[in-house]
Amino acid sequence: MELKICHLYPEVLNLYGDRGNIRCLTKRLSWRGIDCSVARVGIGDQTDLSQFDLFFIGGGQDFEQEVLLGDLKGGKGDAIRGAVEDGKTFLCICGGYQMMGHYYETYDGVKCEFLGAVDFYTVGGKTRMIDNYVFRLGEESGGSTVVGFENHSGKTYLGEGVKPLGTVLAGNGNNGEDRTEGVRYRNVFGSYSHGPILPKNPEFADFLLTTALERRYGNAQLEPLADGFEKTAHDAVMNHVLNHEVKDA
Ligand code: GLN
Repeated sequence: MELKICHLYPEVLNLYGDRGNIRCLTKRLSWRGIDCSVARVGIGDQTDLSQFDLFFIGGGQDFEQEVLLGDLKGGKGDAIRGAVEDGKTFLCICGGYQMMGHYYETYDGVKCEFLGAVDFYTVGGKTRMIDNYVFRLGEESGGSTVVGFENHSGKTYLGEGVKPLGTVLAGNGNNGEDRTEGVRYRNVFGSYSHGPILPKNPEFADFLLTTALERRYGNAQLEPLADGFEKTAHDAVMNHVLNHEVKDA
């Protein structure tokens, strides 16, 4: 078995160690003897995106998101929408997550028309939502708890019938109002969680890998790994964030 991973716009969308997600995915595959390759695809690259099984897009500032608009219109946008509908797995973080929706309108009124690959939109808020946070994945995304770090002014609102990735237990998530966090559409997983998200949330990492392997091979039984350190890190952050939130209330 093998997986082909595409890291989209690694030079531009690269906040808070988000590329650590790639290292986590490749390690968890290699520990199980599953081959994988990672292609970095940036602005102007004409790489055929249909060859990949799993895409990763990290976060970026408003400015960097605006820089990408031309490249998305130059063909990559169609290829990304096609891959989404084809059931390919996507992990998209913060600015990369916002990019999958219809648009992002900054607080200053600059409107970036994005991909519309998933039915949601984002508007810039007055205050930034910055802190560690915790959410629980929906059952269709494995149901485990996820710890992460969010830093965004954009408030995301999901369209009717679009499922969030999870429910906020502490923190803001999509907009600080409806307790939704991220999006799950086909095999697209969008989240505000930087940090990077996957190393401290190994169940979620394996869930993503399983969707990609199942799509390619029909089934995938991932052998369990010795996740003692990862689970300790996850639990320590979760306890800290949840207790902190209770004390502050
Ligand atoms: N520029 C976006 C916002 O502030 C995304 C930021 C990010 O990726 N951290 O909402």
